[in-house]
Amino acid sequence: MSRALRREYLDALGLDSWVLRAPAAAPPLPSLVAPEGSAPLAVPDAAPLAVPDPAPSAGREAGCDWQQLRERVAACTRCALAQTRTRTVFGVGDPAAAWMVIGEAPGAEEDKRGEPFVGRAGQLLNAMLRAIGLAREQVYIANMLKCRPPNNRDPAAGEVAECSPYLDRQVELVRPKILLVVGRIAAQNLLQTTVPLGRLRLKVHVYGPAKVPVVVTYHPAYLLRAPADKRKAWDDLQFAREVATRG
Ligand code: SF4
Repeated sequence: MSRALRREYLDALGLDSWVLRAPAAAPPLPSLVAPEGSAPLAVPDAAPLAVPDPAPSAGREAGCDWQQLRERVAACTRCALAQTRTRTVFGVGDPAAAWMVIGEAPGAEEDKRGEPFVGRAGQLLNAMLRAIGLAREQVYIANMLKCRPPNNRDPAAGEVAECSPYLDRQVELVRPKILLVVGRIAAQNLLQTTVPLGRLRLKVHVYGPAKVPVVVTYHPAYLLRAPADKRKAWDDLQFAREVATRG
């Protein structure tokens, strides 16, 4: 990304650098710092990283339209998380978006509100998207699991297996140009790998029969706890933007 273009994005945020302003009464929001003079990231011409064919057909959800899929999720009792959730968290955004953001599972706030990526992590995600020229409303945002695991524990394999057809069908319906997968849990499950997140970054993976390009980065909630990695997230976003543009 050219410095001028980056400047344009940062100006859109009303920022001197990629630092979020917080309302006076609110706790300070974390910042994403666009490193001065950072060079554009090259998207490799090499073939995408090979991953086992996840064959994520929507399975039981094949043929569902949005309304039917939403109703199935709202009534779902396929795993034990149905007993502890407050609300299912289906997804939000443009149903024909070029970008789809996929996280792990709802947290406490999402469980209450029924919307993914709200609260401070959601605000940081919004800022990350805006920094690459995207409004939250322009992307489609969903989680791998539609119900909150108690105490935000990691999803169990059986829960992922039961819930994945819903996400698969969402991807089929949206038909995005790129999947931005945030966080280790979502990345490893989606790509069916145990490779650490650090080695999944800055590579183009593919997902599903449609071979949708996948780029991996850190979860905003993690970046709130580890601000030193925000520079890496900035690199990831520039990389993802290049991939989406190329596609
Ligand atoms: S997590 Fe998914 S599979 Fe489990 S009850 Fe919720 S919607 Fe159903």
